[in-house]
Amino acid sequence: MLRAIIRFLKKKMTVIIVPHSTRHPIRSSISSLLIFFMFFIWAGSFGWAIWIISKKINYEETIKTNTVLRKKSEFLAKSMAESRDYIEKVSEMETKLRGLLNLKSRKNIIEPAGIGGPSMHDENIIAHLFESGENFNSEETSMNLREMKRDSWLTTQGFREIEGYIEGEKSKLLATPCIWPAPGTITSRFGWRIHPLTRRKEFHKAIDIANKKGIPIRATADGKVLFSGWQGSYGRAIMIDHGQGFSTRYCHIQTLLVKAGERIKRGQTIALIGSTGRSTGSHLHYEVWYRGKPVNPIKYLVKK
Ligand SMILES: [Zn+2]
Repeated sequence: MLRAIIRFLKKKMTVIIVPHSTRHPIRSSISSLLIFFMFFIWAGSFGWAIWIISKKINYEETIKTNTVLRKKSEFLAKSMAESRDYIEKVSEMETKLRGLLNLKSRKNIIEPAGIGGPSMHDENIIAHLFESGENFNSEETSMNLREMKRDSWLTTQGFREIEGYIEGEKSKLLATPCIWPAPGTITSRFGWRIHPLTRRKEFHKAIDIANKKGIPIRATADGKVLFSGWQGSYGRAIMIDHGQGFSTRYCHIQTLLVKAGERIKRGQTIALIGSTGRSTGSHLHYEVWYRGKPVNPIKYLVKK
């Protein structure tokens, strides 16, 4: 086999070039070895060229992928910066609301969490992403995202607290006996006085509103009727529990219009003015109790 190849390579070949003219053809005698060598050179060059082209294509594809990745990184960094701005604005709003509602600031929680603007860490990572154009550090980014998530959670908790506070204030407002229980003239105020019947000095823990019999008496706040019936010297009386520490008592009633256990709304007619019990004339004796103590009803009444 090897001999046959050597024999073949030692043989000479004649190459004839025939021009398309009247000129004679050119003949040349070349060794097979030279032809084989030239073919080898040609095949080698061709293979090398293909290899270079394919590398170039790969390189361009890598550049393209890198560009896409960089764009994605930039977009992510921009979104993160925008989210951070958003959290900052919401946090500012929380602080303003706390100010308006006279609520204590949550400084001890807010400051370590970095609410109130991008932290140095955030700014560094964003600057790095924009300047280098390298792929972002996924560990740093996920840490940054965790921080942002925590900040958002804390801000949400802040708003929950505000919401709870407003709900509490709303309940307090609904429970505060702030409207006039009946029209009429105040004939006796809250405080020390000489009793009109006994002529003895006593503490009058109510206001007396004089008016004709049958004038409607209204509940001064939302609540639940605790008592509705006869109560000795108070005559017919109604007691209402309003919650939040408030309760009210309406006395010397002519006609009771609600029963114990009934839920009532502020402004609802609950009785009619009368002069039952120890009374000098038709009037409403109106008491307000706060946390177990009688308080001056006038303090809570809005102007007529
Ligand atoms: Zn009275």
